[in-house]
Amino acid sequence: MTGNRLVVLAGPTAVGKGTVAAAVREEHPDVWISVSVTTRRARPGEVDGVHYHFVDDAAFDRLVAGGELLEWAVVHKAARYGTPRGPVVTSLEAGQPSLLEIDLQGARQVRETMPEAVFVFLKPPSWDELVRRLVGRGTETAEERERRLETARAELAAEPEFDVTIVNHEVHAAADELVALMKSGTSSSA
Ligand code: 5GP
Repeated sequence: MTGNRLVVLAGPTAVGKGTVAAAVREEHPDVWISVSVTTRRARPGEVDGVHYHFVDDAAFDRLVAGGELLEWAVVHKAARYGTPRGPVVTSLEAGQPSLLEIDLQGARQVRETMPEAVFVFLKPPSWDELVRRLVGRGTETAEERERRLETARAELAAEPEFDVTIVNHEVHAAADELVALMKSGTSSSA
């Protein structure tokens, strides 16, 4: 019993979940971070097996049918994303501080199966800041951006479902807060 815990990080689109997870990856190499499976195409600079496992629809179907995903969801009505179950179990058995960075629908599913995890809501400092980040990222078409903003508005209302809220004022501070939550736990094997 190490006291290390699984933290599930969710929050609205463009709040900076991925950036905070990247800071954790860089600055806290002892933390294990789940690599999701997705049917979306890789963006420039993304590496298969590092940022995501990029798969086609048929491969994703096989993972679902085989019960190999801890959770999965269609995100932004655009692509499917899921968390491979085996590596999460292995990491927790090894007593590693562990992180899932997933969307709200996925967090709700994990809540059902792993209620002992800590559910963290990453919140933008303001709505205007969220819009600014989404536009500034420049990775989406205007249509995709509208869809994501629509999703984000609904997602912001989910904050009360979470155990802890972290306001993403500054990425390194948010990453440190997150890691502290992974390491402060009294271990629960229930
Ligand atoms: P992006 O396409 O920008 O990398 O991610 C889009 C959304 O998918 C983000 O909100 C991210 O949290 C979510 N996401 C990434 N991996 C998973 C996963 O394994 N499961 C679920 N449910 N959502 C995920």
